[in-house]
Amino acid sequence: FKHFPSKSLVNPNTCGTGAKYTPALKGSLAQLGTKIFLMGVPIASSFSAGRAGSEEEFSEEGALLNTRNEGVTHEELQERKEGEIRPPDPKDVFESLDYEPIENEVSRAEHVCHPVRRHFYGYTGLTLTKYVMTIMIGALTGFIAFIMESAMKHGLHFKAECTAWALETQGLGGGFAIHATISLSLVIFASGLVQFYSPESAGGGVTLVKAFLNGIHIPHLLSVRTLIAKIVGTTAGVLSSLAVGPEGPMVHIGACVAAVLTTPFQTSSFREELSTGHDRGHYPSKRQSKWFNSRLFVSLLSDVDQREFVSAGTAAGLAAAFGAPIGGVLFALEEASSFWNHKVTWRCFLCAASASFVLAFLHGTNTGLVSLEGLKNPSQVQWMQQTPFMILVAGLSGLIGGIFNVLHSWLAAYRAPRSSPTAPIAEAVVICMVTVGCFFVLPYLFMSCQDRPHDWLEEEYGFRFLCEEGQYDEVATMFFSSSEETIKKILQMGEQTDGGYEDPFTRKSLCIFAGAYLMIMSLACGAAVPGGLFMPSIMLGSSFGAVMGSCLDMWWPNWHIQPGLYALIGATAVLGGVFRSTISIVVIVVEGTGGIEFVFTIIIAIVVSDWVASQVHHHGIYEGDLDRDMRLAFLQTEPPSPYSNIMARDIMSKKVLGLRPLEKASRILEVLRTSSHNGFPVFECVKSLDGDEPVVRRGALQGLILRSQLLVLLKHKQFVHKDAKLEPSPSSRHLSGDQDDDDSLEESGGLQPPSSRELVIDTEMRTFHHRWDAQERYRCKEASLLADYTCAAAGTSATSGSDRQLDHMMVDVSHYMNRSVLTVREECSAAKVYTIFRALGLRHMCVVDDLQHPVGMVTRKDLMCSHSEED
Ligand code: ATP
Repeated sequence: FKHFPSKSLVNPNTCGTGAKYTPALKGSLAQLGTKIFLMGVPIASSFSAGRAGSEEEFSEEGALLNTRNEGVTHEELQERKEGEIRPPDPKDVFESLDYEPIENEVSRAEHVCHPVRRHFYGYTGLTLTKYVMTIMIGALTGFIAFIMESAMKHGLHFKAECTAWALETQGLGGGFAIHATISLSLVIFASGLVQFYSPESAGGGVTLVKAFLNGIHIPHLLSVRTLIAKIVGTTAGVLSSLAVGPEGPMVHIGACVAAVLTTPFQTSSFREELSTGHDRGHYPSKRQSKWFNSRLFVSLLSDVDQREFVSAGTAAGLAAAFGAPIGGVLFALEEASSFWNHKVTWRCFLCAASASFVLAFLHGTNTGLVSLEGLKNPSQVQWMQQTPFMILVAGLSGLIGGIFNVLHSWLAAYRAPRSSPTAPIAEAVVICMVTVGCFFVLPYLFMSCQDRPHDWLEEEYGFRFLCEEGQYDEVATMFFSSSEETIKKILQMGEQTDGGYEDPFTRKSLCIFAGAYLMIMSLACGAAVPGGLFMPSIMLGSSFGAVMGSCLDMWWPNWHIQPGLYALIGATAVLGGVFRSTISIVVIVVEGTGGIEFVFTIIIAIVVSDWVASQVHHHGIYEGDLDRDMRLAFLQTEPPSPYSNIMARDIMSKKVLGLRPLEKASRILEVLRTSSHNGFPVFECVKSLDGDEPVVRRGALQGLILRSQLLVLLKHKQFVHKDAKLEPSPSSRHLSGDQDDDDSLEESGGLQPPSSRELVIDTEMRTFHHRWDAQERYRCKEASLLADYTCAAAGTSATSGSDRQLDHMMVDVSHYMNRSVLTVREECSAAKVYTIFRALGLRHMCVVDDLQHPVGMVTRKDLMCSHSEED
């Protein structure tokens, strides 16, 4: 970008396509190649200049002469043997979701001829169904949170009891052995679950949910399998002593619940049919297909609706974790979602409220997974005097949050590769050993015993370790007891009660704990175990804040400084420093602690920590993870600044691979087999003269057809013979004169309703289009279908039946293609392209010239690779 606007720098071949289609640049070499090229060294085969012209791709018959930059000719394609379908680059497995609705002739005709019937005083029932769904998602998420909380509470208690018994009877070695054995078994189980059962369930999951809501389709991210692994794995991870918490995973769990409940029809039968390429020839009757084709069915399965439900699920997850319904909604708005409107707000609120309600009902009190009830004594705080100290503590805690992010990014380079089945498990085991080592070594070295207060006995809080009967060890208590209870105790420090109150933890113990916790938390975050960062951040921040508060209290004893208040500031500021959210954290902390009196203090803590942390590390933890994961093409809110100076033509792919409205079946197969694009512009080919030379040029853009739509058409064998009379489209069918019912014709504005078969095909296209992932498709499903047809087309093993003679068969894609495809002119600024693309949640954007001829394609990857160039 230094030499901007040099076109060579933004050559589309340096982007995803280079990696995907050029053998020389496969995999990581693609990036290397890009870097070398940017350093000024041309790489011959990879960077053949794209041409804005269009003439070379079509012969007169429309045969594919050159697919992208690969130089694959029609003859070469024919020579390819059965099953030789190239797998996609593993880095390129994440595709985009389609948030842009497909408007085609079939759906338009159906919409006009059969308008939705409004029963019950004008309601169709769709809105009500969605609200019922929303409440169900919230309720189920709340129920899951309750189950997990109970399991973790009892599990931790049992583990602490076992360790205490072993310490008493077997001594330090015995205690260590028991504790380590339980912890290691749990960590091996949790990481095994991630490695062998559901890799998508690793970590907190918020980053991936955020990517999904941005429009990236991550296979299995929101499946039943991931849901189960997340619930079981998070419980095991938290019980294993690793410094992880259940709040991040609760967000992922909420999203999974939403996706699972809204896609009950996601069966595998269609995939099976695809894999065999077998058409059972059965189409439901009009009456049968009525339900299948109902707007409700189609709507609930659309990407847009699912996106809204998943947003609601994330809100419910966080609300259930903290008992903070408003905080949950704001988290979904501020952190998770990329698309927001009034409807989503309302849906998120309903979902979060029902999750909190169910949890409160099961608890008997209005608390979340983490009840952070703390100090409530604002009258004693001398605000004017203490504000500078509060700012200081918030700044230092924000700095700790920033340092944690730096450590996390630095450690990411040394993590075990996820491709190895056992290395991540070994890594988790080592981290667990270090953590358990801290649990025993630090209390042993810095033993500090205090008498156990009476109410602690009732609450079963406090860990004796090597102290006398009736005493507790401070450091051991912080390590071994439940984090939630410890945070409560820290937040209450300095609170004056009738009988006087002695702080449960001294400065020294808190200091040792905070230092060690920062280390074990940095190690644990990124291990192949389900678990999140909210609780560890609060633990770290509150202990550090309490140390600071306690020091201030020692230096200015007459100022009534409550260390608990500084613990609250510390916890808020570390959360702010790590996550870089603002409003949602303020509300979560206020709702979670019930400390509305301290709202201004909390706001100060967030603002200061955000600023300080941003001086140390650019991004919050989620953005950092998204940046590092090369597979995720996440579109940020704002376009990169150099985009204002360049145009659409500088970022687009210039060799457009498209189809004609009436296309040869054999060519569709070639296109599908030899490219992995998911969208193809549809345009006529026009013959013209270039001097004396006859050339075939692209005509005006008519629409866009998706790969999945083409597959459905092939599956249903929607072929017409070359010489057969073409069936009129639903919109023009009335012109053919076969319409008897003049009245209904008038009512429908001259359109005839689509046939049952057309509707079934259209519904299938809409409901199943993003259910495949690239790997799966290439591995078996699509491959076998295409191989089957290609063989037949090439005549290598023409099985039987005239419908296999694909060379003579045409497919009419015009009925099903998206007619409202979004286009921009070549001269449109790249910043505008980026903004439109992101705002509308597009997957493909066609770039056209003055005559509406397609001259380029823009997808998410084009917008991304320009980011990396900017970097
Ligand atoms: P996504 O992966 O986002 O779901 P896609 O699979 O259609 O969409 P890719 O094939 O991954 O898009 O895009 C990779 C590159 O190919 C991009 O540079 C894009 O501009 C280009 N591209 C996409 N579709 C076409 C097409 N029909 N003709 C030519 N180039 C295309």
